[in-house]
Amino acid sequence: MRSVALAYILWIPPMGLLGLHRFYCGRVWTGVLWLVTGGCFLIGWIVDAFILPGMVRTTNLERRVEVHEQRLAGMPPGALPAAEGHRVIYCTRCGSAMQVPVGSGGRRFHCPSCHTVIAAPA
Ligand SMILES: [Zn+2]
Repeated sequence: MRSVALAYILWIPPMGLLGLHRFYCGRVWTGVLWLVTGGCFLIGWIVDAFILPGMVRTTNLERRVEVHEQRLAGMPPGALPAAEGHRVIYCTRCGSAMQVPVGSGGRRFHCPSCHTVIAAPA
C-alpha cells in the first residue's frame, strides 16, 4: 500500500520537481517527464498537489486488482466455477483447485501451487 503522507513528502522540492512522487505511484513515464522538465515546468507539479491523494488511491486499487488476478490465476479452492469444457480438480497434496479439460480422467497434471504431478480422477 502506498501512503498519501509519504507521497506528499516526496512531492516537496526538490524531490517533487524531479517527479519522485510520480515514480512512487508507479507513474514511470510522467516521472521521467517531470524529471527532465522540472515538474512539467512547475505546472504539473502544482496540479499534483491537488490530485496526489487520488493518484495514490488509484495506484493502491491497481495493485489490489493485480493481486486479485494473481490469486485467481492460482485458483485457490472453490474460487472459480470451471470454464466451459473444463472441470475443477483438487491437488492431493496442497488442495489447490485447477481446471482440466472434461474427459481427461487419468491424465497427469502439474499443480500450479506445489507442482506435484497428480492424475485427474475419472
Ligand atoms: Zn498442490
